[in-house]
Amino acid sequence: MNEPGFLTYLEGEGIALEVPFNRYLPQHPAGVVRKWLAQHASPGSWVLEPIGASPAAILEMAEAGYKVLVAANNPVVAFELQILAQAPVKTEFQSVLRELSVQKKGDERLQGHIQNLYLTRCTTCGREVAADYFLWRKSEETPYAKYYRCTACGDEGEHLISETDIERLAPYKRSDPLHRARALEKIPELTRAARANLEELLKVYAPRSLYVLFTLINKIEGMSLSPARRELMDALLLSALEAGHSLWPAGDGNERPRVFNIPSEYVEHNLWLALEKCIDAWCIREKSISVTRWPDLPEGGGICLYQGRMRDLLQQKPAISLESVCCVLPRPNQVFWSLSTLWCSWVWGKETAANFKNVLERQRFDWYWHANALNSALAPAARMIKLGSPAFCLIPEPVPGFVAAAFEACCSGNLQLTGLAYKDEQHPIQTEWSAQPANREVKKVNLHKIIREAIHSSLMHIGEPCRYLQLYTAVMASLSVNEAFPVSIQQMTYDLVTNIHEEILKVFADRKFLRRMDATTQDLVSGFWWLVQPEGCQASLADRVEKEVVNLLQEESEISTADVQQEMNSRFTGYLTPPAELVEVCLQSYAELDKAARKWRIRESEKYDSRQQDMADIQLQLLSLAGRLSLAADGDNPIDWIDPKTDGSLVYRLFFTSSAGMSRWLAAETDDNVECVFLFPGSRSGLIRYKLDRDPWLRERVTQRWHFLKFRTLRELSSRKDISRDLWDLLIDSDPISQEDATQLSMFL
Ligand SMILES: [Zn+2]
Repeated sequence: MNEPGFLTYLEGEGIALEVPFNRYLPQHPAGVVRKWLAQHASPGSWVLEPIGASPAAILEMAEAGYKVLVAANNPVVAFELQILAQAPVKTEFQSVLRELSVQKKGDERLQGHIQNLYLTRCTTCGREVAADYFLWRKSEETPYAKYYRCTACGDEGEHLISETDIERLAPYKRSDPLHRARALEKIPELTRAARANLEELLKVYAPRSLYVLFTLINKIEGMSLSPARRELMDALLLSALEAGHSLWPAGDGNERPRVFNIPSEYVEHNLWLALEKCIDAWCIREKSISVTRWPDLPEGGGICLYQGRMRDLLQQKPAISLESVCCVLPRPNQVFWSLSTLWCSWVWGKETAANFKNVLERQRFDWYWHANALNSALAPAARMIKLGSPAFCLIPEPVPGFVAAAFEACCSGNLQLTGLAYKDEQHPIQTEWSAQPANREVKKVNLHKIIREAIHSSLMHIGEPCRYLQLYTAVMASLSVNEAFPVSIQQMTYDLVTNIHEEILKVFADRKFLRRMDATTQDLVSGFWWLVQPEGCQASLADRVEKEVVNLLQEESEISTADVQQEMNSRFTGYLTPPAELVEVCLQSYAELDKAARKWRIRESEKYDSRQQDMADIQLQLLSLAGRLSLAADGDNPIDWIDPKTDGSLVYRLFFTSSAGMSRWLAAETDDNVECVFLFPGSRSGLIRYKLDRDPWLRERVTQRWHFLKFRTLRELSSRKDISRDLWDLLIDSDPISQEDATQLSMFL
């Protein structure tokens, strides 16, 4: 069995750019692709980005000095990337907007005409004011509330709608069918089914918004603008198109729409205000990057943008020596892709959208379809770089179906998995591949064996119960390196993929092999998975991470959280990448944070010598206390307390440690009838509590006959003159790990 390589998880660095249309784009931390390129690509070399889903990632590569060849099939994203690379300044946008504002609509200026559409009356002073937005309930004919800021009296906030507000809507309703018909005319020829989809889709634009948007589109078409100013105008218009649909839920509007579902309460934005506001997002960058359109190439570093499909770019046989592939894989995004088709048809004409319009013809975007879509970009990419060249694929917001689609797409595109790093469900999975010759030999493999061993080996290695996604990723990686996936997408049939998935489900259903813990629903992603027979597994990841964090703190006089995390990532690679929270809790347990310097320093009391002294002291206390309880003591650590009166039976086994590491003690065979006591410094309470909360197997093993006793409680108990066996039995659980565990027993009973 081949095992996948384990990579050091690359942590993000810096703040992710809040670019336009951000809520539709793959979410990933800044700095990761830059770090990967620094390790794998020579400075200034050509990098291929075959998908073009994340403008922020592409800009980051170019900013780091690489030449990036990008194929972006979505014209909206390609355009956005180009504008952001140019880093226009606010005054340029403001000047374009001013020119737009003075265009004439009838007798009015355009700005006044549009602002007037949102006029309402201040409920306090009675003056007219343009509302910022209106609030609607889905399927109702009129809005129910409005938000305005009255400059005359200072009144600001949401107010109920008035009769006049409702009357103002009447004209748009009457002319709406006409606008809707015009909007449809501008879309490329479609099949009848797609046409029906489109009419449905257009409902996300309410009558007043549609009226404003087509007024803007028509005006802008008639303006004579330089190409550079036209581009800025298009950027503003795209933002207005985004602000103008009804997929903005009332309240927190940052939810990411994944389906065309108008929220039960949604916001209708004042679109003139939206034009003014969107300028900030377009001006988020300061330094411009050279950007060219294929086949022109940038001189020095920069971006060469190919707007179209990878297979068409491959046909053109680019004479560029591409050293690596680096990309962020997107999830299927029907909402954004469909909206993009509408927008680019309206802004740039039907022709631009022709390549892209098939998203309107498709109703369902399942993961099998998505594997094919990703493959159609990745397979040509693998052929465009030299054999053996590296490819980095980031899988953000991972879920099992997406992970499967990504691995299937790469494997069937002649990319061979060379390594991966998995952090958690909130962070992108990092995968590394190498371009392989096409036409590799296809072997018959034992799916069941590969899947089972991948799960077994991961769990034995991690030493604690895992989430489904983590094991599923391990399975996908193992299937990849053991060549369970076919070498071409044509052979990756629906039946084959289904068969693999059924085999995975079978293994997870085997109750002699795996058990579920803490599951709240039947769904496989709920709760944790653990081995029925975990004997011989590694100490828990949490215990091992704690130990390494402490070692690091002993070595370094001061260190930042980020440096500790990156160092832990390099000591625990692949699936073992320590969760940020675990590292943080370990640090809190042993060190003080210097808030000004943002560095951790180990506490004096936690230094090695100091803890050695504690340990010696506790050992003495335990020996002397045994005597006072008329018990005999045996062993160093654990110390056994034996009752000479009952034929030398073992009554307590006491483990003492300066850490919160419990795996070692729990693995030791202990007779079921013995009461075990775990003695630890009080400063370890938080970490022990945290470990018990996160690890259901650990919790299960310490529920019976295990007692947790802090060093200080032991000292208090042994200082009591009246200490007796009965009192010890009674008070042993009196100072629990945290308040939640309080047993209601007072120390002074
Ligand atoms: Zn007022």
